[in-house]
Amino acid sequence: MNIILFGPPGVGKGTQAGNIVKDFYLYKISTGDLLRDEIKKNTDLSKKIKSKIDQGLLVPDDIISDLIIKILSKKKYFNRLIFDGYPRNLNQAKNLDLLVKKYNQKISCVLGLNADKECINKRILGRLVCTKCGLTFNKYFNPPPKKKYDCNLKYLKTRSDDNENTIKKRFEEYTKKTLPILDYYADQRILHKIDGMKKINQVYKEICDIIASLET
Ligand code: AMP
Repeated sequence: MNIILFGPPGVGKGTQAGNIVKDFYLYKISTGDLLRDEIKKNTDLSKKIKSKIDQGLLVPDDIISDLIIKILSKKKYFNRLIFDGYPRNLNQAKNLDLLVKKYNQKISCVLGLNADKECINKRILGRLVCTKCGLTFNKYFNPPPKKKYDCNLKYLKTRSDDNENTIKKRFEEYTKKTLPILDYYADQRILHKIDGMKKINQVYKEICDIIASLET
């Protein structure tokens, strides 16, 4: 099965995706992470991507499509993907439908998380990401262990786009461009709405129940 984790920035998609990959035989594909990896290469493309991310704007669809094709065409990932932060607009959603068909796969469900703006702001401003393994913690809601997790605490950093100004723009982009996709998936009858304001383990329990109910 392929699953889409949908929701505003900071709602907890990355955290829940991390939980899901641990318990189910799935691979997390975060377009945000793929773009940040691209930035590290320091090419002309990196500069273009960084500029969009730092302004809180969406990166152009053709760049995203190239990244997704590389993933969907890999045998290892066949029907075993959990998309985090993709698709981000209707064009990407329609393109994904074409691509999954082309590669003989399908989207089994869309898990639509939601939370109010105040909660999202707090989650984003408290976010700490491991620059080595990608694991996400939160200063307020999900603090990292005092001594060590799998990696060393020195790898935990705040993302450069997790600041008040960029959050505002990212939220605007989400409302204007990303949110309308929900109707697209509701029409396909694969949307499951989840209250992302609940505690991490409560949200995860709901997610597990939905995944368990899916036909594989
Ligand atoms: P995220 O890590 O999902 O919060 O994404 C961080 C930033 O990367 C976003 O604010 C966008 O600038 C960019 N981004 C991530 N995924 C996409 C996507 N599917 N389409 C366009 N831009 C994206």
